[in-house]
Amino acid sequence: MTYSFEPVGIVRSCFVQKFAIPRQPLLAPAARGTVQLLSPYDQPEALSGLEQASHLWLLFVFHAAPSGPEHLRVRPPRLGGNKRIGVFASRATHRPNPIGQSVVRLDAVGDGCLHISGIDLLDGTPVLDIKPYVPYADSVANAHYGLADAAPALLEVDWQPDALVAAQSQAQRLGEPVIALIEQCLNQDPKPAYQTPTPEREYGVHLWDLNVSWHYPCPERIRVLTVTRR
Ligand code: SAM
Repeated sequence: MTYSFEPVGIVRSCFVQKFAIPRQPLLAPAARGTVQLLSPYDQPEALSGLEQASHLWLLFVFHAAPSGPEHLRVRPPRLGGNKRIGVFASRATHRPNPIGQSVVRLDAVGDGCLHISGIDLLDGTPVLDIKPYVPYADSVANAHYGLADAAPALLEVDWQPDALVAAQSQAQRLGEPVIALIEQCLNQDPKPAYQTPTPEREYGVHLWDLNVSWHYPCPERIRVLTVTRR
């Protein structure tokens, strides 16, 4: 049995590379983007009523991750990146079918597009379906997941003064909450958990059209070093 699907839309996202994307949605409220709906789903008929929802389920394709039947066991970053568990016990990107699901905030319904935030989605992600998040049905009181029962602990993030000034001016240019975005992504510690960083080592990521670099003055703290336009 095979099934094939056409995307209903494509995500345009602040995340232009996978590194430093939060590992689940809603962890970085300043992470914003749009779903650009494809014809015929860009018509008002397909979207009417959607403005009644504060949050959406997006079902999407992990288009930039390998997939297939060989992925029976995965090493989730949340477990340190070294421990293997069964693929169906995880939300890892490497899956039999490369299908992801994220609850995101719906900020506005635009003309043929949806403005969304709290995303954990790479730019260019194909969206297969969109459904309203229905709190009474989708939120389960007393649910638990023993492998990760709470959001990860956050690192402190501080700024080199020049980097903060640069981030403020880039935020104004882009009309985006750049400072909050950087802090919310970095305080989740994007580097693999098994790496112990030295203060000399610099890390970097692209967000929107910016290069952001940082280092770890000590393992529990991140300092943003530079924010420049690419
Ligand atoms: N919330 C979704 C889920 O549970 O199905 C995704 C969880 S997955 C652990 C989140 C990671 O997927 C992000 O940190 C990012 O690195 C990666 N990712 C996001 N969009 C992707 C895409 N289109 N292709 C491949 N990887 C992607």
